[in-house]
Amino acid sequence: MRGLSDAVGDEPSDHQTRFRDGGFPTHQEVPNEQAREVGRHQSLFREVNERIDELAEAFELRDEVPILCECATTDCDERIVLTQAEYDDLRRSPTHFAVLPGHEIPTVERVVERNERFIVVEKFGESGRAAIELDPRRRVR
Ligand SMILES: [Zn+2]
Repeated sequence: MRGLSDAVGDEPSDHQTRFRDGGFPTHQEVPNEQAREVGRHQSLFREVNERIDELAEAFELRDEVPILCECATTDCDERIVLTQAEYDDLRRSPTHFAVLPGHEIPTVERVVERNERFIVVEKFGESGRAAIELDPRRRVR
């Protein structure tokens, strides 16, 4: 995304530095449409993982939910094994997604939890809004 903001180029560089250091949300660098697309994509993986969770329960694999990595990379097909408790915790918040370490995208999400197997990211901005709208556990229409 750095390339995008460079291309705009109408801000003095010292302002940019101050902006970054000030801890402003960097999602302002991502076009809304693109951020929404990311949120929608991750929500699709969440739907798949909800099925995996159901199956794991049906087969009484109580403490193992082998979900798909919920990162925003379209060609990622890696798996993460969560415990049932970890998975339930994760799904409690519609903007939280589990991804492999290094699969997070700082422009649309922030890391809220980290362990040796996976990290939990929280979506914000348009990306987060899309994730809330598409939450299978609290669909309101
Ligand atoms: Zn991934």
